[in-house]
Amino acid sequence: TAPLLAVDNLHVEFKTRQGLVRAVNGVSYALHAGETLAVLGESGSGKSVTAQAIMGILDMPPANIPKGEIRFRGTDLLKLSDNARSQIRGQQIAMVFQDALSALNPVFTVGWQIAEMFRVHRGMSKKAAYAKAIELMDRVRIPAARQRVNDYPHQFSGGMRQRIMIAMSIALDPEVLIADEPTTALDVTVQAQIMELLAELQRDSNMAMILITHDLGVVADVADKIAVMYGGRIVENAPVHDVYKNPAHPYTKGLLESIPRVDLKGQELYAIKGLPPNLLDMPTGCAFHPRCPYRQDDCVTDVPPLHEISGTRSSACHYWREVLDGVQG
Ligand code: SF4
Ligand code: MG
Repeated sequence: TAPLLAVDNLHVEFKTRQGLVRAVNGVSYALHAGETLAVLGESGSGKSVTAQAIMGILDMPPANIPKGEIRFRGTDLLKLSDNARSQIRGQQIAMVFQDALSALNPVFTVGWQIAEMFRVHRGMSKKAAYAKAIELMDRVRIPAARQRVNDYPHQFSGGMRQRIMIAMSIALDPEVLIADEPTTALDVTVQAQIMELLAELQRDSNMAMILITHDLGVVADVADKIAVMYGGRIVENAPVHDVYKNPAHPYTKGLLESIPRVDLKGQELYAIKGLPPNLLDMPTGCAFHPRCPYRQDDCVTDVPPLHEISGTRSSACHYWREVLDGVQG
């Protein structure tokens, strides 16, 4: 079946005073109804910029999309008018941001802010909209929702505020939910609860979800498949189980070995050496070569294409076979 959402050969660049930054450089991924894709990468990998392009919230200029398509139900969103685009945004494709405190309006009660979505987009009466707001606060498990509906954002904990943001994002029953580092600002216990909530909402409503994160540790129980990004490109695409069992790209392998594991307590954690690439001065050949333990001479000169390993799996590494076998050159 045709995917619900397909990003196809997307390029996004920014004009800066230092030069042209190619933030997204030929990214493709697809998502079916009810599917969760985790997009993984360090900051600057292009994962958030891709999401912002899908949402249509990039500032253009300085951002420019010289190439690519973003098809939702077969229609290229990049060809729609601003008006048609804003109809889709929030209603069919919605987003949860990392920082709930700055995304919520501090001068209005949370109930008012949730209710406003139903009043504006569904034309509901004030009373009906408030009833829906309380129902949603219940659904994202805010205790005593009816008593708290007239509280202000600052009266809630960070985790509860993120639940309110999630309530607002699912208010209009979107088909795709994009969650950009939804738990990064929260402590570990609360992170797990929020991930659980997202997974539950996703299952109940058969939403498709794009979960953007730098933390491979949080996606195992939630995602169906993973796209790993590095320097504006996808370097590995795979079902989540394959990635955990045996990654096919040295960068993914490094990320996996950096996850703290309870069964290896006391062992030193592997951290990927070096820094993410400078987008203004990208390394030649494979962008990961300065940090790669598998590097060979041709890695410095030849950009690796995304090699298809199986129908569901690909790796942008010349030596993906060696990586799968764990043989370092
Ligand atoms: Fe490492 Fe070469 Fe593979 Fe790049 S292409 S990840 S440098 S082995
Ligand atoms: Mg980001």
